[in-house]
Amino acid sequence: MSRIFEITDKVLSYHPKADIDLINRAYVFSAQAHADQKRNSGEPYFTHPMEVASILASLRLDEASIVTGLLHDTVEDTDITLEDIRERFGDEVAQLVDGVTKIGKIKFQSSEHKQAENFRKLIMATAKDLRVLLVKLADRLHNMRTLCFLKEYKRKAISEETVQLYAPLAHRLGIHWIRQEMEDLAFSHIEPEASSELTHRMAEHLDELKDTCMRLELVLQEVLNRQGVKARVQGRMKHLYSLHEKMQRKHVAFDEVYDLVAFRLIVEDMPACYQTLGIIHSLYRPVPGRFKDYIALPKPNGYQSLHTSVYGPENHLIEVQVRTESMHHYAEDGIAAHWMYKGEEAASGDQQKFRWLKQLTELLQEADNPVEYLENARLDLFVQEVYVFSRDGDIFSLPRGAVPLDFAYAVHTDVGHHCMGVRINGEPADFQTELRNGDQIEVLTSPEQTPSRQWLQYARTPRARQAIRQWFSRQEREASQRMGGEILLEALGKDVNLGKASLKKLGCKTMDVLKERLGQGVMPIERLLEVTEGSKLGFKGLSQNLMWAADCCLPLPGDPVLGRFQPGKGMILHHRDCSEVTKTRKDAWLEANWRGEGGQFYPTAIQVKAQNERGMLARVSGTFAECHANIDDIKLRQFEGSMTLMSLLVEVSNRKHLATVLRAVKALDGVVSVSRLTQGGLSKRVRVRKGIGEAIKGMVTRGWTRQPSHSKA
Ligand code: MN
Repeated sequence: MSRIFEITDKVLSYHPKADIDLINRAYVFSAQAHADQKRNSGEPYFTHPMEVASILASLRLDEASIVTGLLHDTVEDTDITLEDIRERFGDEVAQLVDGVTKIGKIKFQSSEHKQAENFRKLIMATAKDLRVLLVKLADRLHNMRTLCFLKEYKRKAISEETVQLYAPLAHRLGIHWIRQEMEDLAFSHIEPEASSELTHRMAEHLDELKDTCMRLELVLQEVLNRQGVKARVQGRMKHLYSLHEKMQRKHVAFDEVYDLVAFRLIVEDMPACYQTLGIIHSLYRPVPGRFKDYIALPKPNGYQSLHTSVYGPENHLIEVQVRTESMHHYAEDGIAAHWMYKGEEAASGDQQKFRWLKQLTELLQEADNPVEYLENARLDLFVQEVYVFSRDGDIFSLPRGAVPLDFAYAVHTDVGHHCMGVRINGEPADFQTELRNGDQIEVLTSPEQTPSRQWLQYARTPRARQAIRQWFSRQEREASQRMGGEILLEALGKDVNLGKASLKKLGCKTMDVLKERLGQGVMPIERLLEVTEGSKLGFKGLSQNLMWAADCCLPLPGDPVLGRFQPGKGMILHHRDCSEVTKTRKDAWLEANWRGEGGQFYPTAIQVKAQNERGMLARVSGTFAECHANIDDIKLRQFEGSMTLMSLLVEVSNRKHLATVLRAVKALDGVVSVSRLTQGGLSKRVRVRKGIGEAIKGMVTRGWTRQPSHSKA
């Protein structure tokens, strides 16, 4: 087990002004908190946070990260609360510990590639601070090192999670050695046979190469020394898991992998890199096309080195990398340095996706002191998405600001259409609730539930909004077609299918289009009758029982009207001035051409302002009678002392009839003004007497099928 002074010494070596007292206090605090706990290995639990802190120190992190490493399991596994931590170690450490604890609660539940990607992003978004992620990686690395004490199924599950989530995160942050160690450890648990077989073959191969390697190393050292170049020579073996992957991916045998061993020469400065390369090429024949100058042209992530392959001693193919100490440091430990290593992530889609990481990399490169920068490296600033779970544990990525409806439509269009309620983390929530990372969402559906126009105000994702709009346009189209079908039946007396020629004359491609146009009222019925002359005899004019005048604005035939379908009823027509029309979106309405039926009478609302004189009401109502306009209801109100306001519900046959009536009333002595009301809300404004009101309402919904009031009277 690492000892605390070893850790603090390591920290002081790269950060001489570090707050060692803080680290020591965390050490004592954590040791006490975990005092009674043991690990599966039988060792004291406290060895674990100590090793995590030690790993963090080898990543050269700041004291807050080291302290977090020491404390990272206290809140989850002991009586210690976050408040205790905040009191003793301050806000910064408390936030970091909280972050690590939160990540620990994310349960990875899928091996599907895309899902894994979302989980990785959820982890990054949850981490919020880069240091949280690094502590988590150190935590996982130490757990992997001590995995052998667990039962097999647990080892496999943890290893799987490590390969899917944590190793790729380490890779993207450029912490190469953590990734490799994690992968190799996981590999040995997931595929023990393949792993030991490869280890074996690797050892054999190295034995075989040993002489070559030693000779090469000696030769290189000697020649370089003679030329006055100080160099550190490192033999590097390809790590097991990447070898295994390469063999699988490229379907090659062990012997066909030629970059099993690579030499790395670490020299003092940049000129020495080129000098060394020249020396190597003069000693051994280079393989054409394998030389890469990543010093002059660094990789997008800032990686720098010279790469070449040569035919070494015994004609063995050998890969050589030359770099300076600082390039080496950056390539090995550099946070976020390797996210595009070997072009794996170079596909354009991924490049977009990880642009935030690239930005992070650039910021890291610009910062003079990475430790200082870490404090500001808030990961969530870069993440434009939220990650939420379905009840079954599937993870969904949605744009920030998404609401439950967006989630429902992301699951399936039908789930969205029939969504009647949601629960977030088990609690009922409304449709406008903004989703947060890690929320678990349950959608309640009902076949009776259908989209409402209001949903368009809530939904944020294009997918949800488009689905809702499509639902409405389909509803309207279907309603129009249904109605058009009935019009057709009414007009022709039978259900007919027009031939191609007739359809062409009408400018419609199919019967459905024809029906839709008839239903919308954009195809005049006369046009249809012209084309289908034979059926004309049966046509008695279009029954109005498919179009209804709305009882809020009481439009008359010939008025400018707009229609809206009401399922099971037909088209409800409103006056264009009606508040129902003006307060809703224009695209909710259909143009309608309503001519009404000869001999029918329709109610409409009229307001008469007159002097409050004796006999005034009799004169007005008498005038209506003379004009053959039946009064259905009348309401009087005194105002301004000497005036009477009469609100009347009057039946007229059409606009022309109405104009005649209005003129006659206006001409009366004592009448100040006469106007018609079309702005809607008439059931309130006219305040029809009970009884008559009901009758009128009934009339409207029955569609004016009763006899005209004159003949009844
Ligand atoms: Mn831990």
